[in-house]
Amino acid sequence: MRLVFIGPPGAGKGTQAERLIAKYHPAHLSTGDMLRAARDAKTEIGLKADEYMSAGALVPDEVIISIIEERLTADDCAEGFLLDGFPRTIAQAEALDEMLTKKNTPLDLVLELRVPEEELFKRLAGRGRADDTPEAIRNRLTSYANQTSPLLDYYSKKGLLQTINGLGTIDEIFTRMEGILDKIA
Ligand code: AMP
Repeated sequence: MRLVFIGPPGAGKGTQAERLIAKYHPAHLSTGDMLRAARDAKTEIGLKADEYMSAGALVPDEVIISIIEERLTADDCAEGFLLDGFPRTIAQAEALDEMLTKKNTPLDLVLELRVPEEELFKRLAGRGRADDTPEAIRNRLTSYANQTSPLLDYYSKKGLLQTINGLGTIDEIFTRMEGILDKIA
């Protein structure tokens, strides 16, 4: 399966992505994890990305697109992948389309995990990650609303979007995802 997983910060995407990978075994391509690893390894890209990440802003498209382009060539992606945290802008989505069209491996599905904004702020404020200051949280929610949520319409027009209610227990939410994923697995 070739999937994109979209959801605002705090929607529980990371937790559900872990469950999904344990059951269906796609390669897990999390741009947030890749950037945090680059930051911790103090690479040039990592240090530059950290300035954006700690402010809750998006890292520039060209940086993230080249990271994903390289990652998608790895052998483990041939059997399928879960893109987690990418694309986050229309420019990224268009670049992804182009990459996948060239390889003749189009997306099967885009899953949206949907949670109301008041609930997201509550969850994020309780999480305590280094980039979870109130200002960074506000910025991340704003950048989701402005830059990422247009992707929902973009993928919906392509007939790829399925939306899952992100309220409930971890098990309840995963059961909703299985209802969709079992059909394409
Ligand atoms: P995440 O773990 O997915 O919430 O990502 C953490 C941070 O990494 C985000 O707040 C952004 O600063 C950066 N980031 C991750 N993925 C992307 C992306 N696709 N485009 C731009 N910035 C990203």
